Amino acid sequence: MQINIETKFNIGQEVYIIQKARSKEPCAACNGEGHIIVDGNRFSCDKCFGTGRLHGKRKIYQLADKDTITNIKVYNYLLNTGGHHNEPKTVVKYGFADRSDYTDQKLFPTQEEAETRCNELNKEVQ
Ligand SMILES: [Zn+2]
Repeated sequence: MQINIETKFNIGQEVYIIQKARSKEPCAACNGEGHIIVDGNRFSCDKCFGTGRLHGKRKIYQLADKDTITNIKVYNYLLNTGGHHNEPKTVVKYGFADRSDYTDQKLFPTQEEAETRCNELNKEVQ
């Protein structure tokens, strides 16, 4: 068979990766400082363990990373659509040096586009 496909991104291209993860919000107890000062003494905040941030309850899409594509994989497979019906499908996955891979739904050429998409997706969730 012949596989001939135009990919959205190139090997060696730097892209912005978005991921769904729990939101991190500034700790309300210490105003995100990680410590509280009482009578001139500094105490580590025991609510956020000195990190100044707390994990929110919600999972939201957020900009996770900026990385360089090191490999592109094309998967051709038959998707069973019920009974004896199979549909040929093609999926392109972009791989990175840390062995993670993503489809182009999660990758963006600029930070601005990645953030815009996160905002759109987070609106749909609410
Ligand atoms: Zn705190």
